[in-house]
Amino acid sequence: MTLQQGSRKSRNPGKFSLLSLFEAMATPHALDRYLELVDPMTTVRDLRAEVTHVHRSTEDTVTLTLRPTRQWLGFEAGQFVQVGVVIDGVRHTRCYSPACSHHRSDGSIELTVKAHPEGLVSGYLHRHARPGLVVSLSQAEGTFRLPTPRPPRTLLISGGSGITPVLSMLRSLLDEGYSGDLTFVHYAYTEQDVPYRRELDEIAEAFDHVRIVYAYTDQDEGGDLHGYFGTEHLDAAAPWFADAETFLCGPPGLMRAVTGVYADLGLSEVLHVEEFAAPTVVVADDVDGDVSFTDSAVVAENSGRTLLEQAEDAGLSPKYGCRMGICFTCTSVKTSGCTKNIKTGETDSEPDKKIQLCVTVPLGDVAIDI
Ligand SMILES: Cc1cc2nc3c(=O)[nH]c(=O)nc-3n(C[C@H](O)[C@H](O)[C@H](O)COP(=O)(O)OP(=O)(O)OC[C@H]3O[C@@H](n4cnc5c(N)ncnc54)[C@H](O)[C@@H]3O)c2cc1C
Repeated sequence: MTLQQGSRKSRNPGKFSLLSLFEAMATPHALDRYLELVDPMTTVRDLRAEVTHVHRSTEDTVTLTLRPTRQWLGFEAGQFVQVGVVIDGVRHTRCYSPACSHHRSDGSIELTVKAHPEGLVSGYLHRHARPGLVVSLSQAEGTFRLPTPRPPRTLLISGGSGITPVLSMLRSLLDEGYSGDLTFVHYAYTEQDVPYRRELDEIAEAFDHVRIVYAYTDQDEGGDLHGYFGTEHLDAAAPWFADAETFLCGPPGLMRAVTGVYADLGLSEVLHVEEFAAPTVVVADDVDGDVSFTDSAVVAENSGRTLLEQAEDAGLSPKYGCRMGICFTCTSVKTSGCTKNIKTGETDSEPDKKIQLCVTVPLGDVAIDI
């Protein structure tokens, strides 16, 4: 604890003991459970946010402005937050990357959510989000960030809903008066699918050192590039890309293509990536054993897929958030058996261990407490 923190605390000792007293009286429920009955935005501990504005710029996206409660510590362009909404009485949490500049002065954050076909949370937000909706929020997380000091040349590449973290970088850099070469390439099916198109056009118009490049995969005319990513797109959009730091976020095909080209050119070190979806797990040929979901009294033959997928395949609905080992929403207790974490490659045979279902595969017989 710093001296400053210590003196601040001792100036107001009553406040903390009074809060502890109220919290003790509220036990077994947290004080915030009572306060939310009066006003869900008045919280002692919980971080939440109220939707203050809703905008739909393309058919399948919704842009939300959120005003967080006082616990919010801010974010850096490229990071993500976890947003929780209650749907049919159950809270579901998903990750979303703010699209606004991290220098935004009103303290609000902006999220753009693409409605996935069959998607639970994205579909709910797309259909039902309106001003006044209160959601739960996490502090910002993630290492996908701009370096300090800023690089002299920056290439931003996004595709589909992956526009959000790189647009945040673009907006933040412009707010800082960044004067290096800056190119933003966005991949979309057609021009109708580009959120923020008017703003991007205005940026291109206003700043000589900024180039906005639209790449359309399903539209032959208009835009700047056509078809899927290839080295020729890099040469056309940012011929100096080898001397730049590149930031990439998009669908798995785009991620694979760009990371492959950079790896072939020996440029992996200057490529920074954010993934919204986990790569598909390749199932080994020699899987064996059974997975017992003990709380549900369900036993299924081990298919070699992740425990989250195997539980879903068996008709169960465990809670999950990111499906890629980031958010820990799906953490459950493995009571017995050997498992492998597909992110780290580590195996684990200890009983009664907490594991993340979304990034863990069973090796032989495994029992899980769900
Ligand atoms: C770091 C991070 C940042 C993100 N930022 C954004 C953002 O700014 N904007 C945005 O629109 N989205 C973003 N996402 C994606 C978002 O978190 C949700 O995955 C997305 O909104 C779909 O959620 P859903 O509840 O609608 O779909 P679900 O109901 O969860 O899923 C629908 C179907 O897809 C499958 N599925 C769900 N998620 C995945 C997955 N990741 N991989 C493979 N299959 C899956 C499910 O099994 C199900 O069959 C981000 C994800 C991450 C990890």
